[in-house]
Order: sequence, then C-alpha cells, then structure tokens
Amino acid sequence: MTETVTNWAGNVTYTAKELHRPHTRDALRSLVADSARVRVLGSGHSFNDIADAGDGGVLLSLDALPAEADVDTGARTVRVGGGVRYAELARRVHAHGLALPNMASLPHISVAGSVATGTHGSGVGNGPLASVVREVELVTADGSTVTIRRGDPRFGGAVTSLGTLGVVTALTLDLEPAFEVEQHVFTELPLEGLDFETVAATAYSVSLFTDWRAPGFGQVWLKRRTDQPLPGFPWASPATEKMHPVPGMPAANCTEQFGVPGPWHERLPHFRAEFTPSSGAELQSEYLLPRPYALDALHAVAAIGTAVAPVLQICEVRTVAADEQWLSPSYGRDTVALHFTWIEDTERVLPAVRRLEEALEPYEARPHWGKVFTVPAPALRARYPRLDDFRALARELDPQRKFANAFVQAVLVD
Ligand SMILES: Cc1cc2nc3c(=O)[nH]c(=O)nc-3n(C[C@H](O)[C@H](O)[C@H](O)COP(=O)(O)OP(=O)(O)OC[C@H]3O[C@@H](n4cnc5c(N)ncnc54)[C@H](O)[C@@H]3O)c2cc1C
Repeated sequence: MTETVTNWAGNVTYTAKELHRPHTRDALRSLVADSARVRVLGSGHSFNDIADAGDGGVLLSLDALPAEADVDTGARTVRVGGGVRYAELARRVHAHGLALPNMASLPHISVAGSVATGTHGSGVGNGPLASVVREVELVTADGSTVTIRRGDPRFGGAVTSLGTLGVVTALTLDLEPAFEVEQHVFTELPLEGLDFETVAATAYSVSLFTDWRAPGFGQVWLKRRTDQPLPGFPWASPATEKMHPVPGMPAANCTEQFGVPGPWHERLPHFRAEFTPSSGAELQSEYLLPRPYALDALHAVAAIGTAVAPVLQICEVRTVAADEQWLSPSYGRDTVALHFTWIEDTERVLPAVRRLEEALEPYEARPHWGKVFTVPAPALRARYPRLDDFRALARELDPQRKFANAFVQAVLVD
C-alpha cells in the first residue's frame, strides 16, 4: 500500500496491496466484484490480523459511505450502515427515546466489526452485542446483495462471521425504550470466599478489575438500571474518588460514577465518547469460558499471577449470557469473560499469553476473535460445535473464498 495502515494499537501493519474508501454502494459493489481477495477494515480496534486482506488483497473501508442510522420508532429497530460506530449510533438512537441493551467498554468501535468478532459488554442477562441483530445485509463475492434475517436457517452464521461472508453494508438491530443507569465503584473485593454468581448478578452489568499482584479485585464497577432495585454490596468498600480501571490513568476519561444517574449510552461504556483515544499503548487478550468454571479459572490465574502481573496493565472479569451465533465465543453457554489489557510489548506479552492459555486449558476457553491469542487452530475448531454449519454457509456465499484471509482460513479449513 502507498500509505502505511495499522490497527488502532499499532501492533499490526496491514499487508493488503490497496485500501479503498468507496463513496457509493455501486462503487463498493464494483470493487468487490472486480477484486480477487477482499476484507473490510472496520474501525481497526482488533489486536490481531483478522481484518487484513493479505499481500495482494484489497482492504475496503466503509468510512466514506453515508453514515446511515435510520430509526423506526414504531418497530423499535434501527438500520445501521456497515461503517458506523457505536458512539454515533447510540446518539441517534437515544434522540428517539430508544436504547441498545448493552455496549462494550469503548464506544468508538464500529458496529459491524464488533458483532463480527462477538464483542460484548457485561451482565448475566446480557448476550453479546450481536444478540440484538435481526437482519444482516451483505454484498457478496459477485457484487450482489443478500439479506439474511432472524428465522432464516443461515442466520446463526450470519452475524458473528469474522468478516468472511461478504461486506456487511447494513445491520438492523432491535431497540428498547431508553433507560437510565447509575454507576457505582467499589474497592478491594477479596478472591478468597468470593460468591461469583451472586456478585456478578448484583447489577445489570458488573465488572471486576484486578492487576493480579494479589488474589483479589482492586475495583468493582456496578452499572445499575434505575428501573431495577438497588442491592447492597457488602463485600467491598465504596470508592472515595473517581476511578479509572487502570491505576494511575486519568479518571476524567471515564463515564460518570458515584451513582449519578444518566442515559444508558453515557454509563454502559467505561470510557466517554467525547474522549477520543487516537491510539492505544496496550495489547489485549480475552478468554470466554462457561460461567460455572468462573471461580476455578480465577484461582488458576491467581496461581500464575507472578508470570502475568509484570506485563499486565489490568484484568477485567465480565459475564455474557449465552447466544446462538455459531462462531460466537459465548455460543450456547452462559459465559465468564477474563480480559487482559497488557503493556504494548508483544515480545514480553506472548509468553504470558501462552502461560495463561495453559492455565485456562481445562476450562474450554474460547479466545476473543479480535484480541491476541496463540491457541492453535485445531484446538479452536474443537471448541465450536457448529463450525461445519458455518463452513457450509461460507461455501454457499463465497465459493471462491474471496473474503477468506490467512486468519480465517486457519480456522475454517480442516
Ligand atoms: C480500547 C478497546 C476496547 C475494547 N473493548 C471491548 C469490549 O468491551 N468488549 C469486547 O468484546 N471487545 C472489546 N474490544 C475489541 C473490539 O470490540 C473488537 O476487536 C472489534 O472487532 C472491533 O471492531 P472494529 O470495527 O474496530 O473491527 P476491525 O478490527 O476493523 O475488524 C474486525 C473484523 O470485523 C470485520 N468487519 C468490520 N467491518 C465489517 C463490515 N462492514 N463487513 C464485513 N466485515 C467487517 C473485519 O473484516 C474483521 O474481520 C476492544 C478493543 C479496544 C481497542
């Protein structure tokens, strides 16, 4: 490429030969039909080469297409364009008195890219962000448009598809009436004696943060919907100042705390939409495992704390309700998600990642598709019981494998 294009974290330089930003759908369709290998680059917030088209391939960015977010208040749905980010979508949805049920920690990520990788927020009753998708519109390999709706037998593969079926030009999402959320932060929750199920269910969304320098959680963030009861939290002490999950980082970048109620989209993400992180001095990994394993897995990580802590900025523990997307890391199982924000030094981080994967091996952990992991492809494949169905769908929509890069080939090919 004439320009050097990297992901947000800067640890991946895309090797595709060209990056195109079509201004119209027709231009997009022609580019797809005329190219031998294509991938879409979303907002580039993945920490691996999942988005790359590879040497000789073409990357498409949808940034220059109109930022469509059409709300249907009667049907309580929104049709959102393939390049739109959550911050913009949430603003427009809220203006109609409606809401998305959940958001990820950062609102700057694209909707299509997020649901493609199984991105999630937290909450025992909240599925991943893809669970509200009811319709996917794709430009497929020959440039034609295919729409797959909930109820279509192919739908289970259509949303969390790793960018492999075609260019997602629009998604239709279910909405609900707008709601308010208060955020409460607590400090110093011990791991010893932790009743994980009870703690994880105390609020609409719960996150536990630890740096694994000691076996406990320095912070607990509770996001309570104001239309739900306010439970006590006797296991830890209320924070006395505004906190950032990473000790030492400015709390001003974080969404409002101390129980000040506010609209859903200004509380569900941890970070404010108006604070724009241009690049991140970090790497991330995340492992999603069946929730009944939560305590055993947390103790297993605590046991290797000395290997992990020196390269760790912060670990966040969240929950995700089971969903039905075949390639979703939370497919078919209520999930606990162990997330790790590392320092930005790949060479030092990878040994810790491997150590962690060994420790989590007994717990059927599925790595987040958009983050750093080293689990070999055969082991990954074994963790997705509907992989054959996804392969069949990929063959149907993309028989020449125009949209398959090295990353997805490794997963899809036997
Ligand atoms: C600071 C930060 C915070 C994060 N917080 C969370 C979190 O709270 N929870 C969580 O689960 N994850 C989180 N992530 C991970 C992030 O949500 C995923 O990596 C997500 O995929 C990023 O979306 P993107 O558009 O930037 O994707 P990209 O990295 O650009 O692309 C991801 C995949 O989506 C495909 N894709 C994108 N757009 C399209 C399209 N229109 N059509 C077809 N394919 C498409 C790409 O080809 C690629 O395969 C975070 C990442 C960062 C950097």
